[in-house]
Amino acid sequence: MTKYRYDELTWLEARDAAAAQKAILIPIGSIEDHGPHLPLNTDNLIVEAVCFEVARRAPAEILSLPVLPVGFEEHHMDFPGSLTSSMETLLAFFADAAISVARHGFTHIMLVNGHGSNSSLVELAARKAVLQTGAVVGAMAGNAAVDDVLIRDLIAQQRRSEHGGIGHACEFETSLLLHLRPDLVRMDLATREMGVPNLKYFNWDHPKPAAYAWMDWWSRFSKTGVAGDPTVATREFGELMFNATVERLLELMREFKQIPIKPRRDWH
Ligand SMILES: [Zn+2]
Repeated sequence: MTKYRYDELTWLEARDAAAAQKAILIPIGSIEDHGPHLPLNTDNLIVEAVCFEVARRAPAEILSLPVLPVGFEEHHMDFPGSLTSSMETLLAFFADAAISVARHGFTHIMLVNGHGSNSSLVELAARKAVLQTGAVVGAMAGNAAVDDVLIRDLIAQQRRSEHGGIGHACEFETSLLLHLRPDLVRMDLATREMGVPNLKYFNWDHPKPAAYAWMDWWSRFSKTGVAGDPTVATREFGELMFNATVERLLELMREFKQIPIKPRRDWH
């Protein structure tokens, strides 16, 4: 079986994979509170499972790194268990991962974010890697484990919660965990909590994006670490969203691989 995990290659295989122009996925997650019913590694589990499955389906074209497991969490530190690092360190670290891969000759690299508060850092890291290496480095900055753009239509059609029910440790993430790791989900402890303002120009729910960004300390608006409604989550919804995300990300990566690398020109 062809290997699909970047880190399971030997160095000789890595050299061959770069020569074969395989595209590289770099999943990025977090260790943070996800309510009383989900584990700290919820984001890591989801984004890594998606990326591994995409690479597993097309190992001749795509490889995936394991998840970079620590994200920006300062605003979650009132909840026990979360790990954080500074914005500056994370920006450097995310960029360094892509730059390292590019230095070995890989030309198409995608940072896939699974944690909302990494979004702007992941975008900047991709830009930094492009400017430093010339490789094509993209960022799926996403909001909640790559759902944002890829399957927005499906979420809108299939969800059971009302608007505001999909935010964090919500119907979306809980359903995905029920599909991926039901042994880690305590549905008996799942609590609906809608503490995020649901305004015309600001809300967190996905089909209706906010007009501006604002992130507060979590303990100022959530008692449980939940923002949304996990009580209506189902394994079926999770499986549907997982498979749709994998299919669309695979399609996206095949398109992404076609982006040509053109020479720069100094017009001075
Ligand atoms: Zn999450």
